[in-house]
Amino acid sequence: MATPHDPNKPDGYDPIVLTRTAERIVVKGNKRKYGRLSRPLRFYGGITSAQEVGCNLRCKFCFSDKPVRRPQHTGRFYSPKAVFNALNKGAKKHGHKLISASASEGTLGKQHLFELLELVDRSEYVYVLETNGITLGHDSDFARQLSRFKNLHVRVSIKGAASEEYNKLTGAVSDSYDLPYKALENLMDENVSCNVCLMVSFSTEENIKQAEKRLYDIRPGLLKSLEKEHITLFPKVATRLKNENITPNTIRHGGKIIQLNKENTYV
Ligand code: SF4
Repeated sequence: MATPHDPNKPDGYDPIVLTRTAERIVVKGNKRKYGRLSRPLRFYGGITSAQEVGCNLRCKFCFSDKPVRRPQHTGRFYSPKAVFNALNKGAKKHGHKLISASASEGTLGKQHLFELLELVDRSEYVYVLETNGITLGHDSDFARQLSRFKNLHVRVSIKGAASEEYNKLTGAVSDSYDLPYKALENLMDENVSCNVCLMVSFSTEENIKQAEKRLYDIRPGLLKSLEKEHITLFPKVATRLKNENITPNTIRHGGKIIQLNKENTYV
């Protein structure tokens, strides 16, 4: 039988502490670590994206393996200029108007990010900042600092539709589930263009409805651009979930959403 959780102790790691730990590994001055600097992706009708290294969560369904779990041994440090030049070259080649960095957490290394966004602002591109919302929810000044960039869109990805589900899926302390919601409030207060993405592969219908209500209460418009995300069962993801005894209700396969668990109980 599982030992009951002691309510006086945190029920997971603190993602703010993990943010600082990850930054010590993947940030050096104005440089940040990347695995690859430019590759075309099909999202948003076509986007050129760099593969960054380092994250402040450890989602068990994450497809990005080494950049998240072995940041010390993955990638190299690049300046904002080097990253921008590579993205510019790739976007020109593929006719993309959108550029981004993905596969890890986009807000690590503020100086690097701000210098990169300054370069983007002098170009014709829009930069999609991919984030789990932890840092932007924790530090309300961060959203204000982002508000000066005009060619920026922030995509906040919430890892699960309820705090207990988030805790099981990420291993992070349950309380930190509030941070991405706070991030959305901060971004909207500062008029930063943003939208939200909700991981629903492990969620009950009821939890999804409650998460939608919470988003609606922040700003009804958030529901219009809400993306519901379903995991893709890459072999490493499938093994990790199996080892953790976690079963998704839905998966994405060949462009379709497949229902696996008809009883619709989460994790
Ligand atoms: S926040 Fe994103 S990159 Fe980080 S572990 Fe979770 S899914 Fe992976």
